[in-house]
Amino acid sequence: MANNTERGGISIELEHIFPIIKKWLYSEKEIFLREIVSNACDATTKLRRLVSLGEAKNIDADNAKIKVILNSGAKTITVTDEGIGMTEDELRRYICQIALSGAFDFIEKYESSEDTAAAGIIGHFGLGFYSSFMVSDTVDVITKSYTGAPAVMWTCHDDGSFDITTDFDDYADYIGDYGTAIVMHINDEGAEFLSEFKLKEVLDKYCAFMPVEIYFENAEAEVKEDAEVSPVNDTSPLWQKNPSECTDEEYKEFYSKVFHDYKDPLFHIHLKADYPLNFKGILYFPKITSEFESLEGQVKLYYNQVFVADNIKEVIPEYLLMLKGVLDCPELPLNVSRSYLQNSGYVSKISAHITKKVADKLTGMFMSDREAYEKSWRDLKTFVEFGAMKDKKFCDRVKGAVLFEKCSGGYVTLEEYLEGAKEKHENKIYYTTDKTAQSKYIAMLAVEGIEVVLLDKIIDTQYINTVEMTNEGVKFFRVDAEIADVLKSDGDVTELPAVAEVFKKVSGDKTQIKFERFKDTSTPAMLHVSEESRRIEDMMRLYAMNGMDTMNFPMDNSATLTVNTASTLITKLADKCESDPALAEKMAGQIYSLCLLSQRKLTSDELLALLDGSYDLLEML
Ligand code: ADP
Repeated sequence: MANNTERGGISIELEHIFPIIKKWLYSEKEIFLREIVSNACDATTKLRRLVSLGEAKNIDADNAKIKVILNSGAKTITVTDEGIGMTEDELRRYICQIALSGAFDFIEKYESSEDTAAAGIIGHFGLGFYSSFMVSDTVDVITKSYTGAPAVMWTCHDDGSFDITTDFDDYADYIGDYGTAIVMHINDEGAEFLSEFKLKEVLDKYCAFMPVEIYFENAEAEVKEDAEVSPVNDTSPLWQKNPSECTDEEYKEFYSKVFHDYKDPLFHIHLKADYPLNFKGILYFPKITSEFESLEGQVKLYYNQVFVADNIKEVIPEYLLMLKGVLDCPELPLNVSRSYLQNSGYVSKISAHITKKVADKLTGMFMSDREAYEKSWRDLKTFVEFGAMKDKKFCDRVKGAVLFEKCSGGYVTLEEYLEGAKEKHENKIYYTTDKTAQSKYIAMLAVEGIEVVLLDKIIDTQYINTVEMTNEGVKFFRVDAEIADVLKSDGDVTELPAVAEVFKKVSGDKTQIKFERFKDTSTPAMLHVSEESRRIEDMMRLYAMNGMDTMNFPMDNSATLTVNTASTLITKLADKCESDPALAEKMAGQIYSLCLLSQRKLTSDELLALLDGSYDLLEML
């Protein structure tokens, strides 16, 4: 060992820290790269600032680069920068003596806290550099300050012992006139990062938008690859630009690059909140092709262009996680615990801000170009309905831009529907969950000029509960829930006991029998199931689908058969009940089967009964 080499042992506290770092961050070893590369970025940014302030002279910091060099043979990963570097004194203060302040706090928290979520707080305590020990058994720091002080090399082992020396002049192998090189001697636990593919993947995940150019180098490669001649990152990501300076093409390009989605997004929102929120970002509405795909959004959170994590539900309202996008929040500490985020007022303000922007964008689009908005509605609706169900504020803001698809074609808002229905069925909205199966009901309403809306997604039928709750008096009825008043004709309804009896018999006592006079004389009877009991049944079915035990909920599947006393066929049936009870039973059986058929899909037994009954009757002709 040369004269001016000193051997030391890092203070006792550091010995405590190594096992903690290893234990706690074990599951997220890869973040060492983020920590080391973002330190390199910080060092470069600091130097740029000094240059711009005139405090560092004759330095070209604008073109400063960071290199990540993999040498699998030597088992090293080296990160070099052309930043401010450190003098020996700074090295001792900032890196060797970490135990002095941050670490004390860290250990205190660690020992007193049961919260394993606190595992993410390393960077918060200024210990980012030490995350390199999750994957290394020795780390060398070779650094030279921009001030011209001699280069210094510090070698630290994972037992806390270190060597520090200024007695070397081959630092030029690592760094230029100033800057820092961190050489990590990778241990068994970090072996996976010695794969070029893996290392590049991690680099891309965390460093894709860091503000200093980063080049990847494979020290053993004979031919330089693209990544070695062009930076792996984009130093000025689109979200940092002014929305007025970005083109549609740029937004689309950014989207497909970041989210690897070949489909163009529907539209985007460029977020830019000034002080005190101070965050930026771009949110995209992805094009959704199925109801389930829509739930897999991806919102990436950044801290000054350093990737932190995906889909942090503590920062982003749950329904917004269906979107894709990036959010850069420099006010949030890089490694904060989730429990901190949950209780942070700042975070709830961010959420509120985003909610407002998204709702404003939707209503703005609806108002300025309704035609285009309607075209996108099928893609938007799941998101909008889910959002409205989850967030009252969002619901209030967006409600004027929620559309309902009409069976007759086109879209209406709730307000428009209610306005159109005012005379005939005030505050009632008729809907269908299956345009084909329920077409008889839809057709009967259409004759009377009643508009039916299509609610054929599972979420639709849940969403209408929200609409009913937020609009007093408004009620949704499925087309088969009741016989609408306008379909009834004036005049007395005469009950027909013999007809009631025969229908009871053919339906196996499954239905209630009710008499009404329809305007339409050609339809003998229809089945109705009350809206409430059907909704409960639907809900039970949904629970059962999700594997919940619904045995204890009584299933009230009693439908009502509404018999039309104005129907000529029913008059005939009443006669036959007297003169030919056997034929009357056959007729009633057929009518009942056809009523079932116009309401829903038949079971195989029901279908067989319908077919056999039809052949029987034809035989009698
Ligand atoms: P943090 O970055 O959170 O402060 P670190 O443990 O990562 O904590 O680093 C401690 C300090 O060491 C930094 O604040 C910085 O002063 C110094 N440092 C780390 N890496 C570099 C580097 N590449 N160049 C110059 N200084 C560095």
